[in-house]
Amino acid sequence: MSHQVLVLNLNYEPLNICSFRRALGLLFLDKATVLETNGEWVRSERIEMRMPSVVRLNYLVKRPRPELRISRRSILARDNFTCQYCGRQTSPLTIDHVIPRMNGGSHSWENLVCSCIQCNNSKGNRTPRQAGLTLIRQPRRPRFVPHISFSAFARAVRVDEWQQYLEPFAPRLDH
Ligand SMILES: [Zn+2]
Repeated sequence: MSHQVLVLNLNYEPLNICSFRRALGLLFLDKATVLETNGEWVRSERIEMRMPSVVRLNYLVKRPRPELRISRRSILARDNFTCQYCGRQTSPLTIDHVIPRMNGGSHSWENLVCSCIQCNNSKGNRTPRQAGLTLIRQPRRPRFVPHISFSAFARAVRVDEWQQYLEPFAPRLDH
């Protein structure tokens, strides 16, 4: 992600992840200010500057918060690609209904978790308790929806220079 730039709203809310080129456009038009650089230099005939890594808009963008949709990708991202029964980061991963659908389990943030194939197979159509499995944490709907897609956000929050700006908005990704 070294040539991608995190764009924050005037109120520091994460808005977007854009290309370096696009960020330069914002800076030249005086629409944004650099908050973090990544230490590399950009040199050309016209410019010499440090590569921006985080910029903040000089004006407030008002946008309604998008709804956070449940998808395979967003469940995997929330669970940090980790099986919620055995804690292994293995692939392929599956999505498991904690309370099986045939027992009335819902298709919701609170009832879907990332599971490795072995755990999913040994659980079968049973509850974790019936199968002798324990969830390493209780699945929840992420607290906050940034404008950035949830799976992109989950990756972005692990970039060093971006962490401090994203963490206040992060659904607890690793507790
Ligand atoms: Zn497992």
